[in-house]
Amino acid sequence: MRVSGFDTIVVGSGIAGLTAAIKLQRAGQKVLVLEATERPGGRITRIIRRNGDRAEAGAQGLHSNYTEMLGLIANYGMTGDVMPTGRKLQYLDRRGRPRISGSNMDLARIIGVRGSLDLARFWTQYFTYAKPFSQFELSTDIPEYDNVSAAEELRWAGRNFTDFVLRPMSWAMANSKPDKISMYYIVNGLRLRMTTKILGLRGGIASLPQRMAQDLRIEYGSRVQSVLTTSGSVDGVLLEDGRALKAKHVILACTAGAAGSALPEEFQYQKSFLSNFTHTPMPLVFFFLDRPVKSEAYAYMGHGYREATFNMAVNHAAKTPYLVPSGKGLISAWPAFPAVVELFGRSDTELIELAKKDLEDFFPEFPAAIEEAQVVRHHWGLARYEPGMHRKVLDFKASAERLKGVSFAGTDYDSIHMESGIRSGQRAADRALRGA
Ligand SMILES: Cc1cc2nc3c(=O)[nH]c(=O)nc-3n(C[C@H](O)[C@H](O)[C@H](O)COP(=O)(O)OP(=O)(O)OC[C@H]3O[C@@H](n4cnc5c(N)ncnc54)[C@H](O)[C@@H]3O)c2cc1C
Repeated sequence: MRVSGFDTIVVGSGIAGLTAAIKLQRAGQKVLVLEATERPGGRITRIIRRNGDRAEAGAQGLHSNYTEMLGLIANYGMTGDVMPTGRKLQYLDRRGRPRISGSNMDLARIIGVRGSLDLARFWTQYFTYAKPFSQFELSTDIPEYDNVSAAEELRWAGRNFTDFVLRPMSWAMANSKPDKISMYYIVNGLRLRMTTKILGLRGGIASLPQRMAQDLRIEYGSRVQSVLTTSGSVDGVLLEDGRALKAKHVILACTAGAAGSALPEEFQYQKSFLSNFTHTPMPLVFFFLDRPVKSEAYAYMGHGYREATFNMAVNHAAKTPYLVPSGKGLISAWPAFPAVVELFGRSDTELIELAKKDLEDFFPEFPAAIEEAQVVRHHWGLARYEPGMHRKVLDFKASAERLKGVSFAGTDYDSIHMESGIRSGQRAADRALRGA
């Protein structure tokens, strides 16, 4: 039996779904949000310890040019909660020695004359004379950046640029390696990295989706199995518990893979594209230490000289000290694609042991200072923009415009930033309001 009554059903209460739902509700629509888990926020989540120490366990920070996200924060009276985050990075050089960088000048010192010249060339070619594109919406065809991997395009660069800029950027922005991501990803990521500040929220980034959710009708623990159609037009959803809910419009704001599963065979092209959307699963290992870490750095980048599985780490006590009142080291270990695919199937104990070993190079305190370890798994993690992906997403978006009664919202369709998810949610809401 179908229960009727909603103007729009939004599937998923991540930042994209919440944004869409809020916009529609403010426009006077009757909106229902269906969320498979028991909390809002999706990939914005945190880990909390009994002593009150917390760490971002999903999205790590918002960039100072996330204008729509900062607007949302202001809307909820939370601007006073916007906090700076740690700025110092620690690299390991080819001999395994730590090198600290807190500014572009520090970086210039580390990469030397040749590295700085390479960086200047990069800047001129890809910023000053760059092909124009939006940082937060994938809407322009740029084959020059899309069809080539970052490693291939930047093969002219010397070792220091590769070790201290390209490889760490690929790890930090994409959890991947330069030969596995398109040039578009690197140009977009480096532009953000070098021209913006990274910010946090006093209560953790999750405090924003939590606040947004308070104003909405959300059914938690409600997994959508499929969308329903009549004469080729979407007009509702079927939940796993057997309920069928009817609406004039459905916004699929779940991950791309989940959207693919929900689409019926009659939307074969879109279903196939979404079901095969490349993504990087992410198991993060968190270590709670019994003492502070001596270095001021918040992020630890491994590179050229080592090929470890967990080659990047964050000390949350230095990155977001306002979330770690004890001041003790709270370290997360980050693996990357492609190793991460096999890693995801391993047990927590195996992951903890692997990460512990890999992080010894970064933290002299390891393993003696570890009090507790926990694993946080993101099955979907990040969308992976390999060469050619950009064009495929554009084709998908064009085809999705022709579908009736359904829109897609989510960061995945516009790269990896929360800001993209928010803007995507706004566009999906506009489409629902137009009666598409
Ligand atoms: C470890 C990590 C670090 C990151 N760091 C940053 C960062 O520093 N800065 C940044 O801007 N971004 C970062 N991101 C990316 C950012 O977190 C995400 O892109 C963004 O939060 C995704 O929002 P979304 O609404 O598109 O999707 P999601 O947050 O994934 O929301 C989708 C929701 O749909 C629900 N759902 C799925 N299937 C169904 C179903 N069948 N029925 C009902 N509900 C369903 C899910 O439970 C989820 O709540 C990071 C991501 C990860 C994983």
